[in-house]
Amino acid sequence: MQADKSFGGESPVTIIGAGIAGAWQALLFAQAGHDVTLHEQGDSGLMLSTSHWAGGMLAPWCESESAEPVISRLGLRSLDLWRQELPDTPFNGSLVLAHARDRNDFERFARLTSGHRRLDAAALAGLEPSLEGRFRDALFFPDEGHVEPRRVLPKLHEKIVAAGGRIRFNSTVDASDFDGLVIDCRGLAGRDTQADLRGVKGEMILIETAEIQLARPVRLIHPRWPLYVIPRENNLFMLGATSIEAEDTGVSVRSALELLGAAYAVHPAFAEARIVEFGSGLRPAYPDNLPRITIDKKISVNGLYRHGFLLAPALAELTLGYVQRGAIDNEVMRCV
Ligand SMILES: Cc1cc2nc3c(=O)[nH]c(=O)nc-3n(C[C@H](O)[C@H](O)[C@H](O)COP(=O)(O)OP(=O)(O)OC[C@H]3O[C@@H](n4cnc5c(N)ncnc54)[C@H](O)[C@@H]3O)c2cc1C
Repeated sequence: MQADKSFGGESPVTIIGAGIAGAWQALLFAQAGHDVTLHEQGDSGLMLSTSHWAGGMLAPWCESESAEPVISRLGLRSLDLWRQELPDTPFNGSLVLAHARDRNDFERFARLTSGHRRLDAAALAGLEPSLEGRFRDALFFPDEGHVEPRRVLPKLHEKIVAAGGRIRFNSTVDASDFDGLVIDCRGLAGRDTQADLRGVKGEMILIETAEIQLARPVRLIHPRWPLYVIPRENNLFMLGATSIEAEDTGVSVRSALELLGAAYAVHPAFAEARIVEFGSGLRPAYPDNLPRITIDKKISVNGLYRHGFLLAPALAELTLGYVQRGAIDNEVMRCV
């Protein structure tokens, strides 16, 4: 479907918020030749963004267990864009494991998802030697990837500048300050204009150990949340993530016990790991937990919920397609 173009191709493009949504918007618009300025209220460490706390899994097949088909559609397109823009993004798959007591949930996960193959204990040990003898089988999703948010955001920011865009850190701005096209990617702060946004708290723990090596994210079937262990550089592992309908920050004792317990269940040697950091972020979500591009006098890209890293590239491509050709994606866009 086509819509009337509302934004002139020559006018400057202002993007507000340098988290994962804003970074991808700025990159694709700058590469397409637009005069782009990206404003971020925090410094380049992005401690104020939800993106700073994320796992960074690019897992459309695993997420299809509980997410709508549009997440898989956009997620699959995003994988292509990650590969295209950052060819060193690791795409060595992800693993899903379960202990005997969660067997039924494991089988249910296998039924509800595709893009996986079943590994026996020997094949699992072949992929992840640290897990030898720990699990009788696993689901392997070979085409999934993951990024390290605190490393990949600066890389995206560098690419924006290389493509001719400008980034202004420590710059708290309002959409009404600018002429031309404004793309609002403020995450949860955007609810001053998007009243139905809410925050869904996700807690994480960073631990360090040289005793275990993993090459890919490992999800552990859990009755309430998909808990996972993601390997990072320098012997670090991120344990994530809870999903709680609350907007306070901080990590509760209950959540810490569950996250640390999940790591211990994957391998008891995690008990000797050093705790480096506890943290939490608020995932910006609409009531349907689906992403939304709202087209008004300005454009807002928000509601990335649990899938910001998975969806941001495809959402940026859709926004660019709208501005350049008036193309509308009916599942994601709302014209106000
Ligand atoms: C624990 C946890 C684990 C997660 N794991 C994953 C995962 O594995 N895979 C995945 O795909 N997603 C994951 N997510 C979800 C993902 O983090 C979010 O969907 C994503 O970060 C949302 O990005 P955003 O750019 O919309 O918002 P944000 O990252 O919050 O960015 C918004 C930015 O706007 C800035 N800003 C706000 N107001 C202004 C203003 N007035 N002027 C200038 N700047 C402003 C803020 O400082 C902020 O930097 C996880 C989330 C959490 C909490």
